[in-house]
Amino acid sequence: MSARSPRFPLGLDRVGAAKPVRQADPRSPYKPQKPLRDAAAHAAQAAREPAPHGFGLDSQAVRARMVERLRAGGVRCEPVLAALALVPRHLFVDPALAAQAYEDTSLPIGRGQTISKPSVVARMLALLFEGRDGAGSVGRVLEIGTGCGYQAALLSLLARQVISVERLRPLHERARDNLASMRRDNLRLVYGDGRLGHPPNAPYDAIICAAGGDDVPAAWLEQMAIGGRLIAPTHSDEQAGQVLLVIDRSAHGWSRRSHEAVHFVPLRSGTE
Ligand code: SAH
Repeated sequence: MSARSPRFPLGLDRVGAAKPVRQADPRSPYKPQKPLRDAAAHAAQAAREPAPHGFGLDSQAVRARMVERLRAGGVRCEPVLAALALVPRHLFVDPALAAQAYEDTSLPIGRGQTISKPSVVARMLALLFEGRDGAGSVGRVLEIGTGCGYQAALLSLLARQVISVERLRPLHERARDNLASMRRDNLRLVYGDGRLGHPPNAPYDAIICAAGGDDVPAAWLEQMAIGGRLIAPTHSDEQAGQVLLVIDRSAHGWSRRSHEAVHFVPLRSGTE
C-alpha cells in the first residue's frame, strides 16, 4: 500500500463504493492512519469536526448522538464507544433503512437475518474488554455470524486480528463488499459453518457469536486461548429463552456466567 493510500477510517463513509478510495477525500472528516490506541481521542476529535457531505445523512453527528445515548444508557467502555462513533452503520443496511440506522433497533439485512441493535453490540463488545482495564486491544478474535459485517468492522478497530465466519454465502459476499473500501488488513472473512470455529487461526483471545445456539460447540471451547473469553447468546432452560453467556478459560478450565436475556437469530449448522 502506498503512503498516499488512506486506510480506515478514512473513506469509511464510502463503504460499498465500487472501487477502494485511493486518494484522501477532502470531504472526509477523518484523518488518515490513526492507530487503534488513539481511537477514543480520534472519536472526540471527529465529533468536533464538520460532518461529511454528500451522503444524504449527517452521519457523523447522528452517530455521535447515538454514542451519547449509549453512554447515558450505561456503556462505559471508551474504546467501544470510540469505535461506534467511527463506523457508519447506515452503510451496512439497505438504503431504505438508512434513516433508522442510528436508532437503537435491530434491522433486517436479508435472508431472514438481522443486524443487532447498537446497545446489544456495545454490551457484547464491552464484555470483551471487561477485566482488561478498558485499554489495549482484545488480541485475536473469532466472530461467528458476519452478517452484513458491521460488528466485524467494529471488532477490526478493537482487536489485533479478526476472523469472521458466515454460513450464508450471499451475506458473506455482501459483508465483503461492505467492508472492501475499509481495507482492514487485520480482518479476514471466512465462508463456512462457524459452529466448527476456525482451527487454522486458533487459539483465540476472544470468541463472539452473533447467533443464538442451544449449546456452546465444543470446538469453540477448544479454540479459546488460556485467558480467553467467549460471548455467545445461548438457550437457557431456567430463563426459557436465550441469555448472554460468558465463558472464561483459565489454566484450570472453563467458567461460565449467564447475563441478561437476549434475542438473537438462531445459530444453524452447515452452509447455504
Ligand atoms: N454481527 C452481524 C449480525 C449478524 S446476524 C452484523 O453485524 O451484521 C447473525 C448471523 O449469524 C447471520 O448472518 C447468520 O447467517 C449467521 N450464522 C448463524 N449460524 C451460523 C453458523 N453456524 N456459522 C456462521 N454464521 C452463522
